[in-house]
Amino acid sequence: MTHKTASLWKYVKTADGWRYCKPVTKSNHKIDPRRVLVKGKIEEYPSGVYCLHIGGRWLPVGADPVEALKAQQRETARLAAIANGFDLPDAIKEESETIADAIADFMDGYKIGKSVKKTTPQMQHTLNEFLAVCSQRNKRVLADLDKKDIMNYWQWALDNSPTRSRRTASNKTMRVHTFLKSNGLVFVGKQGDPGKWQVPAFVEELPEVYDLDQLQQFLFACDPIQRVKFETLLKTGLREMELVYLEKSDISFEDRTLKVRVKPSYDFQTKTYCEREITLPVDLIEPLRAVMDSAPGNLVFPTKSGQPHRKLLRECKRIAMRAGLNCGCCDRKGRKRDQNCREHAVCEQWYLHKFRATFATTLLQQGIDIKNVQQQLGHRDIASTMRYLAPSKNKDLKGKIDAVWAAVPLDKKPTVTQ
Ligand SMILES: [Zn+2]
Repeated sequence: MTHKTASLWKYVKTADGWRYCKPVTKSNHKIDPRRVLVKGKIEEYPSGVYCLHIGGRWLPVGADPVEALKAQQRETARLAAIANGFDLPDAIKEESETIADAIADFMDGYKIGKSVKKTTPQMQHTLNEFLAVCSQRNKRVLADLDKKDIMNYWQWALDNSPTRSRRTASNKTMRVHTFLKSNGLVFVGKQGDPGKWQVPAFVEELPEVYDLDQLQQFLFACDPIQRVKFETLLKTGLREMELVYLEKSDISFEDRTLKVRVKPSYDFQTKTYCEREITLPVDLIEPLRAVMDSAPGNLVFPTKSGQPHRKLLRECKRIAMRAGLNCGCCDRKGRKRDQNCREHAVCEQWYLHKFRATFATTLLQQGIDIKNVQQQLGHRDIASTMRYLAPSKNKDLKGKIDAVWAAVPLDKKPTVTQ
């Protein structure tokens, strides 16, 4: 076993955000309290927190460079002793600041320069809650905290919100994140940040759907294979990757079903997907059969050489452009050049998931019950399916409101009575 080392870093806020940077050592082997290395260059960041990096974990050791260096030396000695077979107590934890002390320190700094009086008690309240939740989990010092603690707090905040508001839970969790970040503990990240947790989004946007005119024009601009492909997206509600990896053996013409299955051979991420069986409408049967007969290999909609065709989105945008369906308002800042949807196939109104949303909304509008729609879409949670009730409700509502005002003849000439 190779033995772990404890390297010393300073967590500072750079122009690009919070970063762990190497502190600069002066000629007398002391740490320069003001300077760190950012991408090989010396920059000045007098404030920040020193952290030890041990076996993939970050342990904050305070803002004092002398103390930080001592902590690193102690920890290095301890790790070397452990590597030599000594059974030593977890010394760094004894040194670590308690969560309660860290909150008190943080709040001292937080009050300074805050003009909005409301935010200080809010922050204090949230951190007190967080402290209580941590102590339930027997977490006392900062070094004990990990990603699960903040996730656990989010769930606690949701469960204890009188209205079970995700918005409240997420706002509170972001406050805890601010506090943790100031201590060098970053467990929350954006989508795709490795090892980081994403605070659940609370902005519920209404799903966008295509209307009948758009669909007719779009399908008219397709070549024969494209037409079957996009009609399949629309009439089965498949997700993009489910269509890309759809195999001929997934379709049964006898039963008129399409199976969505796990496909380990394609490294197809089905973890989040439910395997399910979708009912095929009768008018899709013959076109699908024809496409499958002419396609090379196992896939239903492959490239010419029989490989998975992953450029579906680009195809969709090109068809929309050809059909003259671009909205004309999208301006996209590209890496090489700026593009707008008046001249290029980049219209943001055209994307694949919108076919799935249109599928869901159409089924609900036509009176298919929500349980069946949920099953066809492969939603684990009915709340996900219920989102699609919103556009259909609006449409119903428009009709009803029209009917209300049609029954009130305001245009009629008043009969004058004298
Ligand atoms: Zn556009």
